[in-house]
Amino acid sequence: MGDDCLFCKISSGRMNTEFLHETEDLVVFRDINPQAPVHLLLVPKKHIRSVNDITDEDRGVVADLIHTARDMAKKEGIAESGYNLAFNVERGGGQIIFHLHLHLLGGWKR
Ligand code: 5GP
Ligand code: ZN
Repeated sequence: MGDDCLFCKISSGRMNTEFLHETEDLVVFRDINPQAPVHLLLVPKKHIRSVNDITDEDRGVVADLIHTARDMAKKEGIAESGYNLAFNVERGGGQIIFHLHLHLLGGWKR
């Protein structure tokens, strides 16, 4: 992908996005239009269109996203209060950016 994909651009550092966490394989940054007091996006650097396109080779990528989400929830202080992890899949599932990403939402006062 590359120039046509916003999350390829962001994850490769071409958009000057502030990363809360970065590894060789993924980045974490705040959603521009947060739907919760804490709303992070976890984005693999590899371009994968959606959950439908995950292959056996991507098992590590998916595990990495979930492990990192757990760690980021702790860092953001919402591990104990609880949080929501979501993959929107294709248009009917609310996906608007067609590069795999995991939403981490939490921090509500309940
Ligand atoms: P989707 O609906 O595809 O699962 O979620 C895409 C998310 O990306 C949305 O929550 C939207 O607010 C967020 N988003 C779209 N463009 C940008 C951007 O340029 N920067 C950041 N930080 N988030 C973005
Ligand atoms: Zn991409």
